[in-house]
Amino acid sequence: QAKQSGAGRYVVFDLEMRDSFERRVALEGDLRSALAHHELQLHYQPIVDLASGDVVCVEALLRWSRPGHGWVPPLQFIPVAEETGLILAIGEWVLREACRQARGWHTGLSRGLAPAVAVNLSARQLQEPGFADQVAAVLAETGLPADALVLEITESILMKDRETAITRLRELKALGVGLAVDDFGTGYSSLTYLRSFPVDILKIDKAFVDDVARDQEAAQLARAIVELGRTLHLSTVAEGIESVDQCDVMRSSACALGQGYLFSRPMDAAGLWELLQSTENGLELAR
Ligand code: C2E
Ligand code: MG
Ligand code: MG
Ligand code: MG
Repeated sequence: QAKQSGAGRYVVFDLEMRDSFERRVALEGDLRSALAHHELQLHYQPIVDLASGDVVCVEALLRWSRPGHGWVPPLQFIPVAEETGLILAIGEWVLREACRQARGWHTGLSRGLAPAVAVNLSARQLQEPGFADQVAAVLAETGLPADALVLEITESILMKDRETAITRLRELKALGVGLAVDDFGTGYSSLTYLRSFPVDILKIDKAFVDDVARDQEAAQLARAIVELGRTLHLSTVAEGIESVDQCDVMRSSACALGQGYLFSRPMDAAGLWELLQSTENGLELAR
């Protein structure tokens, strides 16, 4: 009896594995054709100056409208794109598309009001020896000034291959683009290394921001990260601000910038353009 149920369980497990393998293969195939069939789209989320409400930057976030599945969130397909190497083509498309659109904001809004655009990089892109050349070519082709582009790299990517990261970041820095450490606080940074990376911005992970309004310790931790940033001459962005209280704590911690549903959810290019025009690029900050 016991043996039978054991064998039964094994068969079920095997079927489940085959099912998830087949789903995975289908996902891979669909993803391969997504680029060619224009199923990928960028949405944009404002990053605001916590003192003035100005939209100083806009983060580009990848969206995939997969036929028969609706919108697939990036965390479901980016890992697959990374394993297959497809992320290199996808990442180049994201970069070009974001720069092209940002160039449009710069043309359409008076200079000084147009926000910079922030683009997320994957580990594979950073490993490419020719990546900085690709960025330079896209900037030249789209006409976007280098200082209007910010590249976001997660702390864990930076720490995984520090030597390659430093080389690549120096090349990128030489182009004049801004560099941000994404999801800071989750990747076990060596502070010595952090100091040697030529970055400009620390993005404090949402996990730290979540509890700042109800937990003294969390608030002090967030404040400590802002101070660490100041020591290293880095600007700080609080990610995932959802409430007025969280915003107040981060502002009083001298965190310069914030991003989150409180200000705006990510929206498509048309929605963002409307927002930039209607607000003359300043969001009313609730206090
Ligand atoms: P991320 O770079 O840390 O982006 C911030 C994520 O937090 C986004 O999720 C955004 O929608 C979400 N978010 C922003 N404000 C709030 C808030 O107030 N509350 C909550 N609950 N969430 C908020 P999204 O768009 O699902 O992206 C997830 C991750 O996927 C990104 O995290 C980034 O690591 C990755 N990703 C997105 N686009 C790209 C891309 O073009 N290339 C690469 N390599 N990765 C990307
Ligand atoms: Mg990011
Ligand atoms: Mg982030
Ligand atoms: Mg994050």
